[in-house]
Amino acid sequence: MMRVHIEQITEQGLALDFEEPAQTFPALMELEATGAGTFTAPVKTALRARLFGDMVQVKGIISTRVRLTCARCLKTFDAPLTSRFEVTYTQRPAGEKKANQQEEIELDAGDMGLIYFEGEQINLLEAIQEQVILALPIKALCSPTCKGLCPGCGADLNQGKCSCDRRVPGGAFAALKNLNLGKK
Ligand SMILES: [Zn+2]
Ligand SMILES: [Zn+2]
Repeated sequence: MMRVHIEQITEQGLALDFEEPAQTFPALMELEATGAGTFTAPVKTALRARLFGDMVQVKGIISTRVRLTCARCLKTFDAPLTSRFEVTYTQRPAGEKKANQQEEIELDAGDMGLIYFEGEQINLLEAIQEQVILALPIKALCSPTCKGLCPGCGADLNQGKCSCDRRVPGGAFAALKNLNLGKK
C-alpha cells in the first residue's frame, strides 16, 4: 500500500517508488464507471518524503496511462498521464476534544495546503488519486491538430477530405442567396 512510515524517513528523505493497479484507487474506479476513461497501466509514483520538524513533505511525480475518447473524432487513444505531486502532511494536534475546535483547525490546515495525518503512518492514496484526476485533460483530443469528423457524412477528416460540400449551410452566403430569391 502507498504508505509512508514516519520513522523510516531519514535525513536524506525516503524514496517512495510504488506501483499499484488503478483498481486500488476508489476514485479512479468511480471515474471509469462514468465512462470518462480507462486506466491501462498501474499508477506509479516516484516520490520522496522529507521531514521538516513535525511536518512531512512528499514531492515527486506520479504517472500512469489512460485510454480516452477523442472529443473531435471519437477515436479511442492511449495517453500517458503525468502529474507533479507536492503535499505537506502535518500531525493532527493531540488533545483536541471539542468538535468545533477540531473543525476550525482542519480548515486552517486546509488553507495552508496541509493534510493531517494521525499515528505513525501517512496514507498517500487519497492525495495520489486526486492528483491523477486533476491531471486528466478537460477536453480529450487524440492530437491537438485532430480535424474531427465531417458533420455531413461522418468521415474521419484526419484520413483525408471527404466529398461533401463543406460550405456551412445557413451561413452568410446562403442567407444572401435566399434574400435574392425572395425579391423575384
Ligand atoms: Zn481525434
Ligand atoms: Zn463529409
